[in-house]
Amino acid sequence: MKTADQYIDSLRRLNLTVYMFGEKVENPVDHPIIRPSLNSVAKTYELAFDERYEELMTATSSLTGKKINRFTHLHQCADDLVKKVKMQRLLGQKTASCFQRCVGFDAFNAVDSTTFEMDRDLGTEYNQRFRDYMVYVQEEDLTVDGAMTDPKGDRSLRPSRQADPDLYLRVVEKTKDGIVVRGAKAHQTGAVNSHEILVMPTIAMEAEDRDYAVSFALPSDAEGIIYIYGRQSCDTRRLEGGDIDVGNCFFGGHEALVVFEDVFVPWDRVFMCGEYRYSGVLVERFAGYHRQSYGGCKVGVGDVLIGAAAQAAEYNGAAKASHIREKLTEMVHLNETLYSCGIACSAQGVATASGTYLIDLMLANVCKLNVTRLPYEIARLAEDIAGGLMVTMPSEQDLRHPEIGRYVEKYLKGVADVPTEHRMRMLRLIENLTLGTAAVGYRTESMHGAGSPQAQRIMITRQANMDHKKKLARVLAGIEKEE
Ligand code: SF4
Ligand code: FE
Repeated sequence: MKTADQYIDSLRRLNLTVYMFGEKVENPVDHPIIRPSLNSVAKTYELAFDERYEELMTATSSLTGKKINRFTHLHQCADDLVKKVKMQRLLGQKTASCFQRCVGFDAFNAVDSTTFEMDRDLGTEYNQRFRDYMVYVQEEDLTVDGAMTDPKGDRSLRPSRQADPDLYLRVVEKTKDGIVVRGAKAHQTGAVNSHEILVMPTIAMEAEDRDYAVSFALPSDAEGIIYIYGRQSCDTRRLEGGDIDVGNCFFGGHEALVVFEDVFVPWDRVFMCGEYRYSGVLVERFAGYHRQSYGGCKVGVGDVLIGAAAQAAEYNGAAKASHIREKLTEMVHLNETLYSCGIACSAQGVATASGTYLIDLMLANVCKLNVTRLPYEIARLAEDIAGGLMVTMPSEQDLRHPEIGRYVEKYLKGVADVPTEHRMRMLRLIENLTLGTAAVGYRTESMHGAGSPQAQRIMITRQANMDHKKKLARVLAGIEKEE
């Protein structure tokens, strides 16, 4: 396993093509806007060496028998799935951010079981190829960006019917050595902090979309891959030099638009190429795993937000008010509801044909659909408790100012024995989680990450077995006899 320092050093050896604010970033690792997101991923390495978390953060490889970071593991039992969610809650608590490494983790498990079934049904040889790749990922303890979402253009048209055929990533050439791909993957979590990128199709494909049914992995600095870094609300506060106004002093997340400009992929890195009937299964499984993930990571971030709200209430002198206590209890109830869903879909996991365990898809989709709602209510309650000062407060520079600093100090005071600066820091943390850089992960990503709410509704409808429910009703209403 890599240590956090070894992870950071290994990123320095990559030669990524990254753009931000219209300029090429020569050193992404030390860039002040990117660095907090890198720190979050580094935490997934650091905690794997902490004895207290060994059980959650590490696993025994099913491929080599060696001890590995859990983020590179293929789930071998339902307990592995449960531990995954617990690990994600832990990391959410430690970073109050998206720690990014789960997208690759979820991709590994989805690609493994899907390629196994493709080989079984079609006589292809993708699974062994993929497992060889997984051994490499485990041995090197890599962070891999699991890349699914295409730009999608006109949502009413299939990939091959788009005015611009590149709006879904596709194979443009096949040679004896490999394939050439063109297109893009949008809002790619942690892309710039990853060693590798593992691409999957974004929807169930049909015969005419055969060229779009493609899955492969490449080093993140492969020729022709370009990263255009995504903006976040309040991101440039990280360029101001202080740490109060950034809210979260150490951590963050990031997304990027990843462009593939005629990129060559050797055959030993191709895991699907034209087998369009299997793209739907791959999408369903990856999405299912990532919907499970949200029952862990968002809950951990929620723990921090609830803690920050409770702490702000104390600093404000409002902690004993009964309505504040009720609101905090409500926040806990909502947060633990999400956790219950994450644990439930994991505990009900089942083995796929490859031996890799899959979550209960119905419960994972219920989990994520709740995540599209409950964090918003938790955030609303946190803002209610924090008070308006959270968004009207002067800056850190004003607090530090030789002449007017004393006014900020004096008039922003809450309870007498708490320094004004502490109150400001806590309110800025809440602002960060609900409106700032971390709001990407806690709010909008709760809505659209791992698929927008409608995608979960479709899956829930599909899994609902309405005929069975109607039959139960007919029997009890005396219309039919039980068989
Ligand atoms: Fe992991 Fe959550 Fe970030 Fe997805 S949103 S990569 S599950 S931390
Ligand atoms: Fe996500």
